[in-house]
Formats: sequence, C-alpha cells, structure tokens
Amino acid sequence: MSLHLLLCLLVLCTAAKPPNIVLIYADDMGFGDIGCYGHPSSLTPNLDKLAAEGLRFTDFYSSCALCTPSRAGLLTGRYQTRSGMYPYVLLPESRGGLPHSEITISEILGGQGYAIAMVGKWHLGYGANGTFLPTHYGFQHFLGVPYAHSQGPCQNLTCFPPNTTCFGGCEQDQVLLPVLWNEQIIQQPVDFTQLEQMYNDFAQSFIADAVKSKKPFFLYLASHHTQYPQYAGEQYAGKSLRGPYGDALMEFDGSVGKLIHALQQLRVENNTLVFFTSDNGPETMRMSRGGSSGHLKCGKDTTYEGGMREPAIAYWPGHITPGVTHELASTLDILPTIAKLSGACLPNVTLDGFDITHLLLKGRGSRRKTMFYYPTAPNETQGVFALRHGKYKVHYFTQGSIFSGSTPDEDCHPTAKMTPHDPPLLFDLESDPAENYNLLAGGMTADLQQILSNIKREKDIFEKTMTFGESQILKGTDTALRPCCNPTCSPKPLCCRCSC
Ligand code: MG
Repeated sequence: MSLHLLLCLLVLCTAAKPPNIVLIYADDMGFGDIGCYGHPSSLTPNLDKLAAEGLRFTDFYSSCALCTPSRAGLLTGRYQTRSGMYPYVLLPESRGGLPHSEITISEILGGQGYAIAMVGKWHLGYGANGTFLPTHYGFQHFLGVPYAHSQGPCQNLTCFPPNTTCFGGCEQDQVLLPVLWNEQIIQQPVDFTQLEQMYNDFAQSFIADAVKSKKPFFLYLASHHTQYPQYAGEQYAGKSLRGPYGDALMEFDGSVGKLIHALQQLRVENNTLVFFTSDNGPETMRMSRGGSSGHLKCGKDTTYEGGMREPAIAYWPGHITPGVTHELASTLDILPTIAKLSGACLPNVTLDGFDITHLLLKGRGSRRKTMFYYPTAPNETQGVFALRHGKYKVHYFTQGSIFSGSTPDEDCHPTAKMTPHDPPLLFDLESDPAENYNLLAGGMTADLQQILSNIKREKDIFEKTMTFGESQILKGTDTALRPCCNPTCSPKPLCCRCSC
C-alpha cells in the first residue's frame, strides 16, 4: 500500500451519505447563450430554473477553448498539457487517446461504490479495439458517440424539413457517425432526430436502476448540443426564436428538465448535486448557427474570455443556497470537489483543481485565485498565453482563430496571427470583462508595474510545476482505426452503414 493511500485511509476518507452526481456538459455553448445569462431570445426555462434555485457562476472557466483538451481537464482535474491532450483535437482515426495512467472522476467514484455511466460525446479517443473508450476509464456504461458529431457527414439533422443538410462545409469523406453502447456500435449513421430521446431514456433508466439498487450514482451527460451542425428532434425543430441553434438549445434544455423531473419522481433530488457547464466558447464562424459569448471577447479556440469563460450552475436543493457567485472556479475544480463530497481519496498526481465545497455549500470564497490560459496548440517554450489573478488578466500572447470568425471584432479572426506582447496587455475583468481597455495603453505606472510583477510571479511558480505529457494527438492517424460496424465491407468508409 502506498504511503499516499495509507495517509488517505488514516484521515478516514468517508462521507456520511455520499451524494449522487449529475454532471451536465454542453458543447460549444457560449457565456451569453442561455436566458439566465442574459440572452434575450433563448428559450431555456429549465436551465433558468436551475440557476434561480441553485448557484450561478459568473467567473467559471474551462481548462481550454477546444473540445478534447477541455474534456481531459474536466475528467482529470489537470491541465491538458500534463495529459498530452494537445494540440487541437482527436480525430476518428487518431492513434492516441487519454493516457490510461490518468485518473478520472469516474475512476475515483468507482472506488466509492458508485453506479457510473456516461451518455453523449466522449472525444477522448477511440483507438484500436476501442481501447480509449469510456469503459476503460471507470464508466460502467457508455451510450454515445466517441467524438464530435461534426467529424462526419451530417445528414438527417431534423425531421422538418427531412434530410436537412449542413450550413457550411461538413466532412463528407469521413466515416458515418456511429452510436456506441459500451464498445459496440449499435447504429451507424446516427439518427439525429431520435438521438436525444435515446439519451434521455437511457439516463432516466440508469438513474432508476441505481436508486432501486440503493447505490449512489454518477451520470456524466456530455451533450452534443450546441456544437455545429445543429440538430433537433420533432418536438423542438422549428420551435425556437433563434433558428436551428435555438432549436438545438431548446432540445438540450428540455433534456435538463426531464432529468430534474426524473430526480424528483425518484425522490433523490435532495441528495443529488447537479452541475452544469460547457466545454468551450461558441463557434461564431457559423454566425447565427453558432453560439454567443455575450459581451465577452471572441469565442472557441482563443484565450480571450469568450473562449474559456463559461456558463455554470450548481444545483442541490437543501444544500446549495440559491444565488450568484463572482468567485473564480473552473472545470479543473470539479474532480477535487466531487472527491471531497463522495469521501474519495484524491489521486496521487499533480492536480490543477481546488476543492470548492465550501464555496458551494457555505458561500465562502473560492480557493482558486488564478486561472491559466493555454492556447489549443501549446508548447513549453511559450507557456501560457494569458493569466488571470484576482480581477486582473494579462495577455502575453494573443491569437485569433477560424472558429471565432464572422464577428465584427477582427482580433478574433484567423487573420489575427499569433502576437507576443511585451509589455503584456493588462485588463481589469471586473470593470472591463469584455477586454476592451488595456490598462497599459496610457503608459506604465508604479502600481501597474507591481500588478504585472505579481502576476509574473504566479506564472513562474506555476510553470515550474508544469511538465508537458507526450502529445497523444501527434501520434498521428490510421484510417483503419475508424469505427466501422461492418469491418470487412468495401469500399470504406461509406460502406460502414448498419441499422442494428
Ligand atoms: Mg466543444
């Protein structure tokens, strides 16, 4: 037995009655997309109710502005640079995946006797024989798509009109999108018009089974909504005020409502922490079919606020006092917080997250004072592109992205190449969350110099602890690894089509 484990057992890692955990993770949903965050025409009554009766965060951050790295950060409590989940994202034919040496939320809860399931988008690897699928990381059940639904030909997005096509390009030469049950393909291509219903049915039956067997449960619901291409089933298609994006958002919101209703029906709502957030900012290149970062600058794939600051709500009736918090917190904090609540030991690795149970349950200040912003293609020489410490944010490098195109702000566009800043850019995010007014524009003062020095010290201390893991994405690709329900068929990839 390791010394770490022994010490952990000695301090009696127990919780009186471990809560159930439902972690709802939206995709590419921006800070300004839902009603309770100020969007004027979004129809999100269930999320708005969750916010009204829970704790709504105004300063909550994802660990990265892109899908694969942000999901790695969420599930491991570690920056994606440590786990090697960079640069950019995994592809359907990628050789790499989340290293099995990483310890996930699901694995630590498994040791506490939880029933554990995941539904939706994984995007942390597929690999030979599905070696990087969720079932290899502590999830006892998985129903979903192993990567982004934008990484395949898009078709059958809505019932009305039938065979709705993508707006803009889509990957027509890629293998048709599979739906998996554990490691088995059960549908290829996915039927988007029925997908949400299938997910909802599974989520509800999983929770009911766990309650019946008197086990605490952990459900990770990683929705495809609201990443491009937008889709929605019959109940929601054409029903919103925001077009296809709004329909997808409504469908997502409807699923949240059904989930909460199921918790109420099963009488476990008061013993279930529901946490909602999103993986990264909006894909504004899709214009009105992408999301909105509200008044924050830029979106997906940038280290501006719109790329990484996300909507977030914690809901636990009787335990979390309803309100709004301006404290700093991150997806990186979810693993240590869930460990504390469940009585699990923390993994014996370098963690980048903090336990925020006192913030959730007692309204105290967050232990997080600093947030580091890595670009989606980081390297050790440049290090972090930006850093927030307290209310101040410094940009050492800035860069636009194709994903953040189409808005009037040219700093967000792909034409805004990577630019080092010396002296850096300095913003006060409390008085200027939109990052409009560089405090150094009027020249350096002794006070500003002190702020910069303090922040640089935080950066130096942090970067001394950072060791980049071997990049899993640079391990390359092999088309033979693409998921195919009929492995011997020809010609691939389009012959990979089955209705099972
Ligand atoms: Mg995403």
